Amino acid sequence: MTDRIEADVRSKNMRRIKSTGTQPEMLVRRLAHRMGYRYRLHGAKLPGKPDMVFASRKKVIFVHGCFWHQHQECSGGHTPRSNGQYWVPKLARNVERDRNNVSVLEAAGWSVLVIWQCEINTLTTMELGSRLQAFLGEPSPSVPE
Ligand SMILES: [Zn+2]
Repeated sequence: MTDRIEADVRSKNMRRIKSTGTQPEMLVRRLAHRMGYRYRLHGAKLPGKPDMVFASRKKVIFVHGCFWHQHQECSGGHTPRSNGQYWVPKLARNVERDRNNVSVLEAAGWSVLVIWQCEINTLTTMELGSRLQAFLGEPSPSVPE
């Protein structure tokens, strides 16, 4: 009985974590869509499963959480001081994997843009929009991606 209650609570927590985790990504997705870009989600065949794949432009966007992907330029990317033996190698592996994915993608001719969670929180929609456009080029709504 106890186990079942705990499992219920756990799965509720998991759901909550998951839905807040994708919020920054949703923001970028909605903005890109509104600007007229068409893309696929989570390119399963590409290294790192990029969050957004602009196949006809050969461009991908990753939306990275600052903690999990260790953003070096913001406080969100600091390794926790407690339980360092656990976190340091785990997060270092994430960083290593990210770096690897980017080089494999670039070697295959893809351009890669990483948008950090903290940027989504601090940039205005206009600023974020111009970053997207600078990376992707002009939107072409009439041409399906
Ligand atoms: Zn950050």
